[in-house]
Amino acid sequence: MGSIVVLGSLITDLVAHAPRMPLPGESLFGDSFGTFLGGKGLNQAIAAARQGANVTLIGRVGTDSFGDNFFPALVQEGIDSTYVERDTHIGTPVAVIIVDANSGQNAIITTPGANMTIPAHAVISALQTIRERQPQNADPPLFLCQCETSYESFAGGLEYAHAAGMQTILNAAPIPRQPLDDHLFALVDILVVNEVEASHLSGCQVISADTAKQAAESLIQRGSQQVIITLGGQGCVWSTRERDRMQHTTLPAFRVKAVDATAAGDAFCGALATGLSAGMTMPQALHRATAAGAVTVTRMGAVASLPGASEIDTLLSSQGLEGS
Ligand code: ADP
Repeated sequence: MGSIVVLGSLITDLVAHAPRMPLPGESLFGDSFGTFLGGKGLNQAIAAARQGANVTLIGRVGTDSFGDNFFPALVQEGIDSTYVERDTHIGTPVAVIIVDANSGQNAIITTPGANMTIPAHAVISALQTIRERQPQNADPPLFLCQCETSYESFAGGLEYAHAAGMQTILNAAPIPRQPLDDHLFALVDILVVNEVEASHLSGCQVISADTAKQAAESLIQRGSQQVIITLGGQGCVWSTRERDRMQHTTLPAFRVKAVDATAAGDAFCGALATGLSAGMTMPQALHRATAAGAVTVTRMGAVASLPGASEIDTLLSSQGLEGS
């Protein structure tokens, strides 16, 4: 199996279920409460590890008890947490989530905390050390990042990884607070975005496979080698430019009974990175990523819903597709 370095966020989700949303100034009795480990970085690292990749996570949490809780979970998932640092000044990122138990609607406040304090040099020195410790003749690891950590952390990581010959995937989610430089697009081998992110970054309204192709064209013009736009239950579109001609491939989603869309994109990115790092072709890796997204939406939660490799094999072979 291949090696992947994920740079990304770790966030503690504090979820309260209430009979309805509280009004401004109101204090309301809730029904239940749960604490969950999350963040796009953690989710994608776990998604990849469960698919069998050798995963190292670069991130940052506080020295509080929320931060402590991530380390046993990373060990349990077999993820190398050497480069998950502790910030002594700023706390672990927290998302406070209120769920209206009747309508299922939620309201969320995220305080990004230590995710936003990761400096570029911490990422670069982690990547350097990881490269130096690799056996000679080993393929360089794949670098996967998102936009839920400081801009300088993922920009610095992409810059180093690109120069070091590592394959780079940027999942430009959530929509970055600071516009992405054109210079950054040129460092990205594969840009993965959903409809909302694609619309924001390209200026084309993405609502279908056809509009996704237009958006992908404009994103490739900005410098990305390949673009994948995920379309929820409509699947995804993979776009590349071959000798000045755009090529688009549409992959339909698997038909499943969706109960919770949380982390579908994270499952997709983790499985895509795993497939590519193991030497699969893009169509093979995309089939696995599409299957991982589909399984994830059939279950509640984020980390709890991310599938293992054998589940993907089963789903693919039930559709007459190759398991691995
Ligand atoms: P995000 O979570 O980033 O918004 P998407 O919702 O586009 O990402 O989902 C990522 C991928 O997961 C999709 O391209 C698709 O393959 C799969 N997926 C998402 N929703 C469904 C669904 N309802 N049924 C089947 N597959 C789905």
